Amino acid sequence: MSQLSPLLKQATPVEVDYGEGVYLYDHSGRRHLDFTAGIGVTSTGHCHPKVVAAAQEQVGKLIHGQYTTVMHDPLRSLAERLGDVLPPGLDSVFFANSGSEAVEAALRLARQATGRPNIIVFQGGFHGRTVGAASLTTSGTRFRAGYAPLMDGVHVAPFPFAYRYGWDEATATRFALQELDYLFATMSPGEETAAIFVEPVLGEGGYVPANREFLAGLRERADKHGILLVADEVQTGFGRTGKFWGMEHFDVQPDVVITAKGLASGFPLSGIAASTELMGKAWPGSQGGTYGGNAVACAAALATLDVIQEEGLVNNAATQGARLLEGSRQIAEKFPQIGDVRGLGLMVGSEFVTADGRADPDTAKAAQQAAAERGLLLLMCGAWMNTVRMIPALVVSGAQVDDALGIWSESV
Ligand code: PLP
Repeated sequence: MSQLSPLLKQATPVEVDYGEGVYLYDHSGRRHLDFTAGIGVTSTGHCHPKVVAAAQEQVGKLIHGQYTTVMHDPLRSLAERLGDVLPPGLDSVFFANSGSEAVEAALRLARQATGRPNIIVFQGGFHGRTVGAASLTTSGTRFRAGYAPLMDGVHVAPFPFAYRYGWDEATATRFALQELDYLFATMSPGEETAAIFVEPVLGEGGYVPANREFLAGLRERADKHGILLVADEVQTGFGRTGKFWGMEHFDVQPDVVITAKGLASGFPLSGIAASTELMGKAWPGSQGGTYGGNAVACAAALATLDVIQEEGLVNNAATQGARLLEGSRQIAEKFPQIGDVRGLGLMVGSEFVTADGRADPDTAKAAQQAAAERGLLLLMCGAWMNTVRMIPALVVSGAQVDDALGIWSESV
């Protein structure tokens, strides 16, 4: 008999039997308020009836139709439907299975389309665990340790993480853009830089929203040097932040959008979107994989889009996100061990620090565990794993947000 690898360490002791909406139920029938949503994946809640019905119907018709061999309705329809929600001009989409694979696809596209080697990423960014994606990731040594040499040509610029720098947002932004210009002047001249990869909200890096001036500064520099601006919306996309895409908050248009997680409510599906002209510059045969654009996953994604639209989930994420952020801030005022509360929409993080301002992962972990004992499931993030994050399904109600805040306050 084989066993699960010791690499698999659960953040909570819950052995789940089934899920419904924002709740998970264990084998004893105990209900857990799930503010992790499978790390931001089950956007429409666990087992939304419409997603279940769409997937069940598709399973009976066609499970897999490999997209380099045959075309099928769910794949074509999903590509067409995404046109309604993608930023203008990004009219060509391509599918894979996971966030990391989509990041790799964007990486290949950027280098192939520009013929340039370098990629600029930001301190604290997370883009995945495959070699290319891990090479772009700087949100913690654990994602890269023992794995080098990774991909060459990646240059890291500061992200305007005002709280960590101890500065105001404007100063942090000015610093970040100046450092970026310094990078262009030294290690990564514009004409050698293929793409800038940015998350509109640093996810694994600690739930740090970018800002308009910073992203506009990236857009300006990308235009000046002919560099592609790639928005990694794996965690922030599909309504999570209270707009369909995180970049919309800042009115900055990317050249490539990467999506995954919430796209198919839990079925493995990811994708990249770009203009047809840009996508046409990818080298045939270099992109894709056996399972990309799986028929059942595409059917689930179509149902996810329906549910998001019919139930007004983007607006709900904005409303409940604001409630969650405000409630978390009120709790932090009572507890000095929480140094900062930040987020956008239904991505809210509480950062734990010691009295002298150092990262305090132990207290953060203790609070997360105390919440789990009380029936509220939460996760950690941040370079030091000292930020407790809340990322519930977009269907969460005001009453459920209040329940979570009540448990969170007791747990802290
Ligand atoms: N990009 C971002 C912004 C993410 O948050 C993640 C996962 O958390 C990824 C990429 C990688 O996605 P996956 O774990 O599906 O490979």
